[in-house]
Amino acid sequence: MTIEQARRLVTEIPGPRSKELQERKLNAVSAGVSTGLPAYIVAGQDGILLDADGNQLIDFGSGIAVTSVGNGNGRVIAAVQEQIEKLTHTCFMVNPYEPYVAVCEKLNELTPGDHPKRSALFNSGAEAVENAVKIARHYTGRDAIVAFDHAYHGRTNLTLAMTAKNMPYKNKFGPFASELYRVPMAYPYRWPGGEKACESDAFDYITDQIHAQIGEDNTAAVIIEPIQGEGGFIVPPPGFLKELAAWCKEHDILFIADEVQSGFCRTGSWFACDDEGVVPDLITTAKGIAGGMPLAAVTGRADIMDSIHPGGLGGTYGGNPVACAAALASIETMEAEGLAARATAICERLTARLNALAEIHPEVGEIRGRGAMIAMELVEDRETKKPAAALTAAINKACHARGLVTLTCGTLGNVFRFLPPLTISDELLEEGLDILADAFAEATGTKG
Ligand SMILES: *Cc1c(COP(=O)(O)O)cnc(C)c1O
Repeated sequence: MTIEQARRLVTEIPGPRSKELQERKLNAVSAGVSTGLPAYIVAGQDGILLDADGNQLIDFGSGIAVTSVGNGNGRVIAAVQEQIEKLTHTCFMVNPYEPYVAVCEKLNELTPGDHPKRSALFNSGAEAVENAVKIARHYTGRDAIVAFDHAYHGRTNLTLAMTAKNMPYKNKFGPFASELYRVPMAYPYRWPGGEKACESDAFDYITDQIHAQIGEDNTAAVIIEPIQGEGGFIVPPPGFLKELAAWCKEHDILFIADEVQSGFCRTGSWFACDDEGVVPDLITTAKGIAGGMPLAAVTGRADIMDSIHPGGLGGTYGGNPVACAAALASIETMEAEGLAARATAICERLTARLNALAEIHPEVGEIRGRGAMIAMELVEDRETKKPAAALTAAINKACHARGLVTLTCGTLGNVFRFLPPLTISDELLEEGLDILADAFAEATGTKG
């Protein structure tokens, strides 16, 4: 299917057909599963999503950093079709197949560090994080896991214990798994005393807390998103991750990088850790790995990954052959099309335009991120930094009405995040940013 790379609105958003479908949804799907923009999508290609009413929407979300190789990527479709005709499932633990092994080889090659590595495949990011925790506890013989404020690691019970935000993720879903601790995040924009204080004090403050409240000898692992995703695209100060990884090593604590959102070319490198020269003991990946097919992985030091007894890791569907074929095709696309470099080019365009918005709108508190993982934090004023969640929601809604699929995030609900497919055209990117500017002006009543 070929979809012209242009925005086209033929009805209001959502249109009548989508509204009918949403009626059916309300009667069939749990209210707990909500929809951000209830325009029902029937097809997609690169930077465009086609809805049930024939509207063509610009995609600035990639289904939350998943379709990085573009919606409807040709290589992924061909690989899936070829694989699905041959074999859909055996369960790797019953009868193995090559694509699983090939994905693990690729992960071992591409993830940070040139030490011997092993991988294991799963279905979702949360499942990968759970397994990383299992592996870390088993290997170290320790219980405690340290995560960070603003962290997002998934929605299963164990990962919810690590995820920071109450509404909507955790509210009344407890009790949560034990021996999971959260410490403050090195969040330059909101660190008490400001950015400079964050740079000089955050590491000491955080490791002192781990020492005093948990104890290094009790700590199996520290898990961190090198750039936090759902929590607001928070980028710790340069050098923080490296210092933290070195501290972990000194205390025989495993350093786990959760790159489920930041991985696979999103930040302008294969992984966000690469930009900082950080080599994690274990790394979790999912989202962008397989062009939309469900797949996740834990990759890590061979001695850690091989310390698990046979049968200790697995699952019925983990590393499904069709998902593996999609992953190999996605990785091939990233290599062939230089998508890491493309993420950096997108970064330049995005930040230039967002900085221009910051000049005319005092509500823009900070623009941050890396590559095609850029955020804009909105505040009521720059002095108090009081989060502007209602304004964020209003702009988001105005973007949706204009046919631009935008996403928000942040523990305080006041952050816009931009995660376009890396194959989006410059024209669509610019048009999307025009729409954002327009929506911003409308929501703030500054439209001239
Ligand atoms: C999305 C996400 C997860 C959870 O992945 P699912 O596939 O939704 O289970 C875990 N960690 C991070 C950093 C994520 O962004």
